[in-house]
Amino acid sequence: MFGLIGHSTSFESARNLARSLGFEEYADGDLDMWCSAPPQLVERISVTSPTGKRIEGAYIDSVFVPEMLSRFKTAKRKVLNAMELAQKNGIDITALGGFTSIIFEDFKLLREQQVRATTLDWQRFTTGNTHTAWVLCRQVEENAPQLGIDLRRAKVAVVGATGDIGSAVCRWLSQRTGVQELLLVARRPQPLADLQQELGGGRILGLEEALEEADVVVWVASLAQASSIDPSRLRRPCLMVDGGYPKNLDTKAAGDGIHVLKGGIVAFGSDIGWQMMEAADMANPQREMFACFAEAMLLEFEGLHTNFSWGRNNITLEKMDLIGAASLRHGFQALALETPAPVPS
Ligand code: NDP
Repeated sequence: MFGLIGHSTSFESARNLARSLGFEEYADGDLDMWCSAPPQLVERISVTSPTGKRIEGAYIDSVFVPEMLSRFKTAKRKVLNAMELAQKNGIDITALGGFTSIIFEDFKLLREQQVRATTLDWQRFTTGNTHTAWVLCRQVEENAPQLGIDLRRAKVAVVGATGDIGSAVCRWLSQRTGVQELLLVARRPQPLADLQQELGGGRILGLEEALEEADVVVWVASLAQASSIDPSRLRRPCLMVDGGYPKNLDTKAAGDGIHVLKGGIVAFGSDIGWQMMEAADMANPQREMFACFAEAMLLEFEGLHTNFSWGRNNITLEKMDLIGAASLRHGFQALALETPAPVPS
């Protein structure tokens, strides 16, 4: 069985979701009430691959909302309690969605393996970041040419380059895609220098300078709020693949040669018949989902009950190949730009 641990994008959307699911006491509760609320197994799901294999799973809402990020103990408790619930329900492989994997890493929850009577078995959990990184790279490779951007001559900025997903995207784009130049953006200088050395290239730039030079921008910074950018300073055409959760980019940036694509999102080939993506701002919530969630499904389809994506900056190209092949085999497709612009002659 696969599991998905998620949360709402805001307290307001969480309350609306609670009302729509019939959890009236949550819908009316204040943030303090939500802070003490336990996780909920909201939905059970069945998914059938084009190969004919059928898998069963469950969605667990951690009852965390981004407004709790500053409440260290609450955030930590929310993630651990949701993991405990997944394990107690016998779920073999569960993806930590949204902020939950970042809380797990940043708050060093590896040290908190004991949750009441349950010893968490790390093998049962995955961040889903390998599939997310693979999907983002595929979105760059498939959509840039649609805009007339030749990646071999393009500068690609990765905002959040030193992160778990960002560093994997950099490795793939430099070694597999062969982009002309990578522009590496993050705040801390030392991890940037280490990444540049590992890649054997890439130019370290501030966000503003990188945006002015980039033909393609991959956004994978862990930002609690979207950044607003000045579209007049961007190149045209410019492909922006927004892989953050919540989205890193103010959608007002789109238009007039600037193409914003929802990054790290895949569509399954048929309707799943679930409720959980209705609140996640997906264009087609019956088919679309975060790539990290899809990773748990893929591991279940493949019978790989292991913490496939774990820790930080461990994502290899070989693992991206493996999960990418599984993604295609089991009927997932990376989201593309809605109406491809004509290629300039
Ligand atoms: P990490 O915490 O590993 O990395 C975050 C990166 O962002 C680091 O390079 C960090 O470097 C950088 N960063 C943070 N703040 C800023 C800032 N203000 N300006 C520039 N860079 C910044 O995160 P992950 O790689 O695990 O996740 C990245 C994003 O992807 C998150 O938003 C996450 O929610 C999203 N995600 C999406 C998924 C999907 O399925 N679509 C699945 C999983 C994650 P530094 O601190 O030095 O600035």
